Formats: sequence, C-alpha cells, structure tokens
Amino acid sequence: MSAPLPMNCDEALRLLAVFLDGELDAGPQHEGVAHHLEICRSCFSRAEFERRLKTEVGRLRQNEAPPEFEQRVRRLIGAFTPAPTGGSGGGRQP
Ligand SMILES: [Zn+2]
Repeated sequence: MSAPLPMNCDEALRLLAVFLDGELDAGPQHEGVAHHLEICRSCFSRAEFERRLKTEVGRLRQNEAPPEFEQRVRRLIGAFTPAPTGGSGGGRQP
C-alpha cells in the first residue's frame, strides 16, 4: 500500500483545481490531496466551495446567464471566509 504524500494547505490548495477537474493522475499526489481534505476542515470547506462554484458555472453554461448570477457568486464568495489561523480541530460537518 502506498502512503499518501504528506501535504500542507498550500500544496493541497495548489493542486485542488486540478484535483477537482479530475485531471490529477492517481498517485501519491492525488492521495495526498484526498487525504488532506479528510483531515483539514479548512481545505475541505474550500473544496466544497470550489465544487459548488463549478456546478453553478456548469449550470450557467447550459442555460442563459441569469443577471443575478454574478451577485449570487459574489455573495457566495463573501460568505466564504477562510479560517484565519489553522489549528482548531474537532470540526463537525453538517
Ligand atoms: Zn489544509
């Protein structure tokens, strides 16, 4: 069995876009991001956010862009505030 590549938030976030696109080859890097998302609530929220954004954008491409879309995205971005300092574990997911 292969241990996932240990990653810090910077590395995980750098690979996150590729990871979410499904373009990260299976391997220690892929495992590393997946593992990091399991243990890091901050990056997990970030991944969820990016995923949701992707869904919204995908929907946008199918339908005509509703005028309120941009506002909605801005609100989403405003609602997303990354944890100021890493640390406090014991997060609970809804
Ligand atoms: Zn992280």
